[in-house]
Amino acid sequence: MAPVGTVKQDTKGTKMTSPVQEFNPWRMAQSQLDAVAEKIGLDENIHKTLREPQRALSVSIPVKMENDKVEVFHGYRVLHSSVRGPGKGGIRYHPDVTLDEVKALAMWMTWKTALMGIPYGGAKGGVSCNPKEMTTTEVERLTRRYTSEILPVIGPYMDIPAPDVNTTPQVMAWIMDTYSMKRGYTVHGVVTGKPVSVGGSLGRNEATARGCMFTTMSAAKALDISLSGQTVVVQGFGNAGSIAAYLLYDQGCNIIAVSDSRGGIFSTKGFDPRAVLEHKKKTGSVVGFPDTDTITNEELLELECGILVPAALENQISGKNADKIKAKIVAEAANGPTTPEADKILTDKGIFLIPDILANGGGVTVSYFEWLQDIQAFFWSEREVNLRLREVMNRAFDAVYKVHTDRKFDMRTACYAVAVERVAEAQSLRGLYP
Ligand code: NAD
Repeated sequence: MAPVGTVKQDTKGTKMTSPVQEFNPWRMAQSQLDAVAEKIGLDENIHKTLREPQRALSVSIPVKMENDKVEVFHGYRVLHSSVRGPGKGGIRYHPDVTLDEVKALAMWMTWKTALMGIPYGGAKGGVSCNPKEMTTTEVERLTRRYTSEILPVIGPYMDIPAPDVNTTPQVMAWIMDTYSMKRGYTVHGVVTGKPVSVGGSLGRNEATARGCMFTTMSAAKALDISLSGQTVVVQGFGNAGSIAAYLLYDQGCNIIAVSDSRGGIFSTKGFDPRAVLEHKKKTGSVVGFPDTDTITNEELLELECGILVPAALENQISGKNADKIKAKIVAEAANGPTTPEADKILTDKGIFLIPDILANGGGVTVSYFEWLQDIQAFFWSEREVNLRLREVMNRAFDAVYKVHTDRKFDMRTACYAVAVERVAEAQSLRGLYP
């Protein structure tokens, strides 16, 4: 993706484009679309339509707190596009949630669902709150009131939420219950990421990491290298990172370094990530795992390795450290770990990038499987889930890789080109209502 600019207004209201200074995710998402539109020659009318969200709902959520005082929270649900199907996207609980952030995340979901080839549009929700400072009862009240405020715009054929930052399977169960109570019957398919006992899917917990592993296998094949024996470095040993580590270990990779927010561990001999997971469960961190050296997160990213999996935060690989990255393959399990400036440096160094919307698309894909199982009330075995996931991931990788090689687009641009062209085709076939 070309470096993006922040669009600002000067005092006369004239639009000016300047390098990103203050980060506005919505401006960034629009700029990304603009850059791809130019590359693929997107129809101007379709471009204009896709630059704006279809719907943005803003709600106030009064919650009676444990101290008997009422606090009013602000929440959003944005549907960016329903051109390819109902909206799909998570709900985030975080103090920094803004409407602009939710709009950007919704647009990115449109591209991710299109890229994965699943019949959804893009949506996202969020509530500005700090659940870490709230009791379980307060989070439940907030969730139920938020659900009831956005109830007119969600539904199994309209817009289907899922977990995101700080929202858990339990939160999804409360959303499903609130929606069902209002309808008068149980509606499993209104939300995904639920616990298995209330309509969740087997394999959902591992889906993001498993998808990341499948795309890494495809990348190794494309580069004509054997996955088995590759050294692996994982930044962020949470849900996505720890599972990616042990799935790659199971493929014969040598896991030489992993980290969490407290620091990293490194051993040239490698280690068993499941044992590290046990250590982290006991001690709260990967640091201190026997027979390993302690390293910083910065040092970890710069290690010589076959595969680097950033699975923590955004903007970890930037203009500052990109030229020191020595991996053959970077598989972005996290969302947005590489800045546009770093993208260019990695490409110039010949590092093969598996961009986030492809590498972590396994999560939304198994969410789709969960929804399919819910609306049919017919549940699959974990093996079936994993086999179908592999098919979807391989298909998505192949489509991107073809554009990468045929049209000489870098891998990130190729992802966006495939996604935007699919949405544009659907828009063009459907035409503009009325
Ligand atoms: P998580 O909270 O389970 O794990 C995050 C891990 O990163 C934790 O181990 C944490 O200690 C570590 N971390 C935090 N700050 C760090 C730092 N400065 N340096 C190194 N490690 C740090 O979260 P997750 O669900 O695994 O998500 C990780 C990333 O993957 C996020 O970008 C998320 O958006 C993306 N993602 C996750 C899923 C999913 O299904 N879990 C799906 C799509 C994308």
